[in-house]
Amino acid sequence: MGEMGTKLNEVEWATGLRSVLDRVRRGARPRRPPAGLVEFGPWPTIPGSCLSMQTLLRRPMLAVADSAPVEGLIRRSGFSRGLVRRFVAGETLDEALAAVRGIAGQGMTVTLDQLGENVASAEAARAAVGSYVRILERMAGDGLEPNISVKLTMLGLDLGDDLAAENAVPILEAARRVGGFVRVDMEGSAYTGRTLAIVEALHDRFPDEVGTVIQSYLRRSADDVERLIGRGMRLRLVKGAYAEPADVAFQGKVEVDAAYARLMVRLLDAGRYPAIATHDPALLEAARLHVRREVIPFDRFEFQMLYGVRRDAQVALTREGYRMRVYVPYGTEWYPYFTRRIAERPANALFVLRQLVGG
Ligand SMILES: Cc1cc2nc3c(=O)[nH]c(=O)nc-3n(C[C@H](O)[C@H](O)[C@H](O)COP(=O)(O)OP(=O)(O)OC[C@H]3O[C@@H](n4cnc5c(N)ncnc54)[C@H](O)[C@@H]3O)c2cc1C
Repeated sequence: MGEMGTKLNEVEWATGLRSVLDRVRRGARPRRPPAGLVEFGPWPTIPGSCLSMQTLLRRPMLAVADSAPVEGLIRRSGFSRGLVRRFVAGETLDEALAAVRGIAGQGMTVTLDQLGENVASAEAARAAVGSYVRILERMAGDGLEPNISVKLTMLGLDLGDDLAAENAVPILEAARRVGGFVRVDMEGSAYTGRTLAIVEALHDRFPDEVGTVIQSYLRRSADDVERLIGRGMRLRLVKGAYAEPADVAFQGKVEVDAAYARLMVRLLDAGRYPAIATHDPALLEAARLHVRREVIPFDRFEFQMLYGVRRDAQVALTREGYRMRVYVPYGTEWYPYFTRRIAERPANALFVLRQLVGG
C-alpha cells in the first residue's frame, strides 16, 4: 500500500465500524468469573457495563507488587528474568541500543525510556537529567532519530513542581540541539494536573521538542485533548496503566475503549502528529478504517507499541506502510514498569502468581 489509504465508501465504513464495535462489546461481555472474584475489589459497578478481568486484577496486582517482600522475591527469583527481558531491552544503554538497531532494521522508529520514577533527592533528579542529555546525544551520534520518554517524577516532581520543570529545560535544550523529541509520560492521576501544567508551560518555550500523553480512562481527558489540540501539542493516546478510583477514571473496558475511539478520531482529524499507542486489535482496526475513510496521509500520525508486546502487529502494520514507533525501556529500575505490564494482562498476572505461590 502507498502513502495514503484507499478511500472507503460509506457502506464499507459503516459495516466495518459496526463490526469493530461489535467486537469491542463482545470482548467486554462478562465471562463467568472465577469463584471469589465477583465481589473482589472496591470498584462500584457502572450501570449498564461490567468490570473487565483486567480492571479486577490490576488494583490487587499493583498493591501486592508494591510491597517490599514481594519486590525482593521477584527481583531475586530466576523465573522472572526471562519475563523481564521480554518487556525490558536490557540494563545498560548499550544493550538498549543493540535492541534499537534491530527494530530500526525492520523499518520502525523508537522512543527510549531509561526506567526510573519517583526520585527522592534533588541529586538523583539532577543525575537523571545528565543521563537523558547523554542518551539524546548518543542516539544522534549513532545516527538514530533522538526520541526519549521521561517521567516528571524522575526529574523530582515529588520534591516540587518548579524543580521538575527546571530539570526538564536542559533536556529540551539538548533535544533542540540534536533535532530530537521528548515525550513526557503520564503517571498516576495524582500527577495529571501538575504534569499537564508543567508540560504546557514548557511547550510555550519548546513547541517542537515536547509533547505528552493522554489516558482515555480518565474522565477529564476529553477536555484536556481539546485544550491541547488548541495549543498544537503532540499527544500520545493510551488507555492508562494505573489503578484509579471510579470518580476519576472509567472502570469498565467498554467505557475505556469507547473513550479511546472517540479521542483517537478527534486526534487523527485535528491533532498535531498524534501517536495512537495501543495493541488492541479492535481499536487498531478502527484507526485504519478511519484513516482510509478520511484519506489521512500516513505521515500525519504514527502508531506506537511497547517493546515485547504484539511484535507481529508491529511488523504487519509497518509492512502496510504505517509508521510504527516502539517504546523501548531499559535500565536497572525495571520493577514498577514490569509490574504494570504484568497487571495489564490476566495471563501474565496469573503466571507470576503461580510461580510465586508454587515457589
Ligand atoms: C507506546 C506506549 C506508551 C505508553 N505510555 C503510557 C503512559 O505514559 N502512561 C500510561 O498510563 N500508560 C502508558 N502506556 C500503557 C497503556 O496505558 C496501556 O496500559 C497498555 O498499552 C495496554 O493497553 P492496550 O491499549 O494495549 O489495550 P489492552 O486492551 O490492555 O490490550 C489489548 C491487547 O494487547 C495485548 N497486550 C496488551 N498489554 C499487554 C501486555 N502487558 N503483555 C502482553 N500482551 C499485552 C494483548 O493481546 C491484549 O489483548 C503506554 C503504552 C504504549 C503502547
